[in-house]
Amino acid sequence: MDLIFPPTCVICGKIEPEWICNKCSYLLRKEAEAECGCIENFNNQESFSELLYLFNYKGIIRDLILKFKFQSCPYVSKVFVNFLLKNEKIFQKIEKYDTIIPVPISKERKKERGYNQSLVFARELCKYLENVVLIDNCLYKIKNTVPQSTLTKQQREENIKNAYELKNKQIIKNKKILLIDDIYTTGNTVNECAKILKAGNPKNIGVLTIAKD
Ligand SMILES: [Zn+2]
Repeated sequence: MDLIFPPTCVICGKIEPEWICNKCSYLLRKEAEAECGCIENFNNQESFSELLYLFNYKGIIRDLILKFKFQSCPYVSKVFVNFLLKNEKIFQKIEKYDTIIPVPISKERKKERGYNQSLVFARELCKYLENVVLIDNCLYKIKNTVPQSTLTKQQREENIKNAYELKNKQIIKNKKILLIDDIYTTGNTVNECAKILKAGNPKNIGVLTIAKD
């Protein structure tokens, strides 16, 4: 397949086996180094203890995430994970977790998009983590909500309410959970998911997103 459809740079389109060429990689690395971050202890306002993110949601990163989500390009996750692996600050923090749970999408959305971008990203990341288990059979999205990005702050909270369900909750007992999502905006989605996960009595919950808006 690679001969007929060779991998190309996800940004500039040049043929590139690593999915990103040196020039574009350099541009992204500059952004990632300047902008990745960690916010801890939200004064108990949130249901999770820390937020880790790789980029700010703007410019080429924004374009790349939109491509990843909406243009049937799951392989873009490889580029994001590659940046994460080179980022010691974030990687060291991630290694403290033992369980990875991607934010789920509804059945309807899955059918429409073909894949859950957070699961694709989580799977790719797990290839490089030892002693970490990916769990995708405990948190489910049971309501097909309107995309959060189209709503006001207040509407977002209402929209996401009762949208998730916890099954097999015994498997997350005492686990150190890293919840994975693509973009952090108001935090309503991950906060709601973390709230639901808490019913399974995990040890702690942190959040990792590709970008923060
Ligand atoms: Zn390129």
